[in-house]
Order: sequence, then structure tokens, then C-alpha cells
Amino acid sequence: MSAFVGKYADELIKNAKYIATPGKGILAADESTGTIGKRLSSISVENNVTNRQALRELLLTSPGALAYLSGVIFFEETLYQKSSYGKLFVKLLQENNVVPGIKVDKGTVDLAGTNSETTTQGLDSLGGRCQKYYEAGARFAKWRAVLKIGATEPSDLSIQQNAQGLARYARICQDFGLVPIVEPEVLTDGSHDIKKCAAVTETVLAAVYKALNDHHVILEGTLLKPNMVTPGSDSTKVAPEMIAEYTVAALRRTVPPAVPGIVFLSGGQSEEEATVNLDAMNKLEVLKPWTLSFSFGRALQQSTLKTWGGKKENVAKAQEVFLGRCKANSEATLGKYVGGGGGELASESLYVKGYKY
Ligand code: 13P
Repeated sequence: MSAFVGKYADELIKNAKYIATPGKGILAADESTGTIGKRLSSISVENNVTNRQALRELLLTSPGALAYLSGVIFFEETLYQKSSYGKLFVKLLQENNVVPGIKVDKGTVDLAGTNSETTTQGLDSLGGRCQKYYEAGARFAKWRAVLKIGATEPSDLSIQQNAQGLARYARICQDFGLVPIVEPEVLTDGSHDIKKCAAVTETVLAAVYKALNDHHVILEGTLLKPNMVTPGSDSTKVAPEMIAEYTVAALRRTVPPAVPGIVFLSGGQSEEEATVNLDAMNKLEVLKPWTLSFSFGRALQQSTLKTWGGKKENVAKAQEVFLGRCKANSEATLGKYVGGGGGELASESLYVKGYKY
């Protein structure tokens, strides 16, 4: 008999643990229709269902790549989409032991009464949607809350509202069999130093874990998706070892060992930066009770997208590039990345001010 209560408790715990398998990570391919449009327009490709399907097919059918992934996050459209040879993408993942996931938030809106801080929408009807997504094969979900660093931000109001939202989302997902990825992203925008980012990240994570406890969330059946602790985008860069030290310290102070895995977002770092920083964390010789892995969107797709350029004749080359990034990040989860893969494209900064996912 399990010590955990709830129809799905054992399944949630098993799936969360599997997704956190060392050596594997998550591809965040859950860009909303608007966001994928920005990506496609950067390579002069029209944002229509055919091209969105083609990009997702390129990623998911990259020979060898799925071996380095334990999960892929989809936007609703892709959850029901098929490959050009007629196989549901969900089925393709399942056959390769990759767990299908689904973005369930409905984006951010201004939090009234604050200086342009935000809250995340989507709680209305969330239970019904989770049920539908579970039936379609999804076993985990993502909800992104956003916090910003400013002279007086994040405000206590935004920290509390976003923590409550994440906790309500997480509990609802668990009631319908989906492992919730809890994502409180502290944006990199600003000229603050790494110490400021560390302090804010700790305060935010402490509030999030208090809220998860208040809402009776089974931590063993969740994953955390945080930002790495870095200096602000307008501040001087620091070494990966320093990012690793500050990030792991912030996590050790706030994330209970009951959480099986922490899967970072890339947040506008270049592909190579994100990989090297993850690798540095896994090389750190301190007690880390959780797996430290990746759930990258931009840092897994950017050079692949550029190499593809929307052209059929470039698909094989682009898939090779994607395989390279998946392998590099897999090595980084084990602290075994030697670096340098991917050339110039992989080192391009992906930072966009005020980024909206
Ligand atoms: P990036 O890795 O591009 O920051 O995106 C990950 C993600 O899913 C953000 O919600």
C-alpha cells in the first residue's frame, strides 16, 4: 500500500521519476500558435498548420534523438497531430519511451494594481481539459508563471498570486493523472547582479513550495522548472561555475528532496551557454537530492530551425544538428559534457527583452 492518497498517486510518482531519469530531459515544443509564428518568421516561413506540423515532425523523427529525451511538451494542436506517414505524434513518443506532455496555461495577463507584473490564466475549465488530455495520452503538464526583477519587483502580491496559481494548477493536474511541471520563471531582463537573482529566486521558490504544501500537492509526483540563477541580461556575464554554485545553492535552500527532478528552462541563453551551465551544476560536488536536467525550448531548437530554413532538402542536416544538441544536453545531465559542439549557431544569444512564450 502506498503512503500517498489519490486515484493517480502511484502513477504520478512513477511518471515523474521516469521523466527525471539521469541522461534524459525534456524538449519543450509547446510554443503557442503565436509564438511559433515568431520562430517561423525568423526563417521566413509562413505560420500555417502545414509548416508547424513539418517543424514538429522534423524534431520528433530525428534519428536517435528520442533516446536522449524522457518527455516532450506539446501545444494542444500537436497533441492531436500526425506525422506525414500517418502516425500520431503521441504514439510515436510512446513507442520510444518518451512521455507526452501538454502546455495547459493560457498565457499571462497584467496583474492589476502592479507595475506591469503578470499572472497566468487558465484555471477555469482546467480539470476538464486535463481529463481530455489524459485520454489523448498526455501524462504531464506545464504551467508557466512569470516574475520580473525591478526596483520594487517582484512584489509580494505577484509572488503570492503566482505561487497560489501554480499550486492550484498542480493539484488539479494531479487529480486528473497529469504530473505537473511547476514553472516559476524569474525573467533575466535587467541590470541586476547574480546575487539579486539568487535572492529573488529563493524567495519565489520558498513561496511556491509553501503554496504547494497548502494545496496538498504530492511533491513526489511533480517536477520543478526554474530559471538558472544568472546576472541580468544588461549586466556583465559570469563563469558557468559561478552560475552553477548560485543556482544549486538557491535550489538546496528551497526545494524539498521529495521532488524527483528539476528541469531548467533556457530563458534566452544561447544553446551552448545553457548546456555548459547545466553541465557545471552536475559537476558540482555537493549533495543534490534531485536530478538536474533540461526542459529547453529555444536552447534545443534554435540552430536546428536555422539549419532547416523551411526547406525539405535541409531536413536531414537539421535533424543531425538537433541530435547534437540532445546528446550534448544528455551529457550535461551527467556532468560529462566536454563542450564546443554546434559551432557558431549554437553560441548565438537567444535573449529577447520582455519575452512572451
Ligand atoms: P525556453 O527554454 O525557450 O526558455 O522555454 C522553455 C519553456 O518551456 C518556457 O515555458
